[in-house]
Amino acid sequence: MGILEVKNVNKRFGGLKALSEVNLSIAENSVHAIIGPNGAGKSTLLNVLVGKLIPDTGSVLFDGQSVLGRTPYEINQMGISRVFQTPEIFGDLSVMENMMIACFAKRDGAFTMQAIGSMMKERDIVEKAEQMLDSMNLADKRGMHSASMSRGDKRRLEIAMCLAQEPRLLLLDEPTAGMARADTNNTIDLLKKIKQDRDITIAIIEHDMHVVFSLAERITVLAQGTPLVEDTPENIKGHPKVREAYLGE
Ligand code: ADP
Ligand code: MG
Repeated sequence: MGILEVKNVNKRFGGLKALSEVNLSIAENSVHAIIGPNGAGKSTLLNVLVGKLIPDTGSVLFDGQSVLGRTPYEINQMGISRVFQTPEIFGDLSVMENMMIACFAKRDGAFTMQAIGSMMKERDIVEKAEQMLDSMNLADKRGMHSASMSRGDKRRLEIAMCLAQEPRLLLLDEPTAGMARADTNNTIDLLKKIKQDRDITIAIIEHDMHVVFSLAERITVLAQGTPLVEDTPENIKGHPKVREAYLGE
């Protein structure tokens, strides 16, 4: 059994079937990509996994426990962290302050803005935040106003903030969207390193096939809310149904 088991999930938005009989099994410690054309239901599926949306029918088990009916906070506590399609950082704060907030949230289960002033006195938090920034190649940007960072750096900061939660399953929704090629390659390398350095399962939604084929061990192709095929990257590349439905051939 996979660390994540999705069974017969259906989700409608009014007359639109966004997810239709979705079955998905993600193996522990693997990198599993979910690809598919725009509107295929990829983000909807992710929203179901993190408790932002409740499916009409079906089940979602994480490490054997149902996530359905739990709040996003509870699901996060179970070990699932998600990086959004648009970066969610505190733009008014520095890179280091953002990172420390994430480390605080992990240690104390909550964070208040009043605590910002005393943050710098907490040695363990400062050290952890510095170490996390360093591992994402952001150490030299620690004092920077985070709103002024490049898109790629914002994304990497957000990934670092998610990792501070020490998730067992990291969900990434188009982590390289809008990035230049060099930035994309940098992010691929960092994700590889993240995977190497810890026990973590990564599920990644991605449009860029270069990213998908560089990272994924398994690929699920979603089309019109339903998994079309699931296989290894090698087999997906040559799959006639995939070429037709997704690669437009
Ligand atoms: P993807 O991420 O694969 O591009 P989405 O999961 O965002 O696709 O969307 C799947 C379908 O569901 C699309 O047709 C989209 O317009 C629709 N949809 C997504 N979210 C909502 C919503 N909150 N309300 C109504 N329709 C939605
Ligand atoms: Mg999407």
